[in-house]
Amino acid sequence: MTTRVIIKSADWALRTGGGEGAPEAIFIVECMTYHEESDPADDDRLEVELWALKHTGSNPSHRLFKLKTESYWRTAPAPGNPYKEHESSEPLA
Ligand SMILES: [Zn+2]
Repeated sequence: MTTRVIIKSADWALRTGGGEGAPEAIFIVECMTYHEESDPADDDRLEVELWALKHTGSNPSHRLFKLKTESYWRTAPAPGNPYKEHESSEPLA
C-alpha cells in the first residue's frame, strides 16, 4: 500500500528581527574557565561586555568568554496569502 502526502501551502515571508513583543536579540556571555554566565541582556550587548571586563577584573586568570546570541525570526503573510487580506493569525475556515 502506498501512502500519499499532500502538502497545501500558502505564501509566507520570513524576516529577521523580533518586532513587537520580542527583542531583536538576547545576549549572554559565558566565562570559559568555570562556565559562569552573565544575566541575559535584551538588545544591549554593552551590558554583557562590561560583565566580561568586570569578571576578568575580579578573576584575572579568567580571560576567555563565549558570547551567546539569540535572535528572532518572524513570519508574515506574503502578497496573495489569504491571511494578508484578513490581517489575522486565526485559521481561516
Ligand atoms: Zn570565570
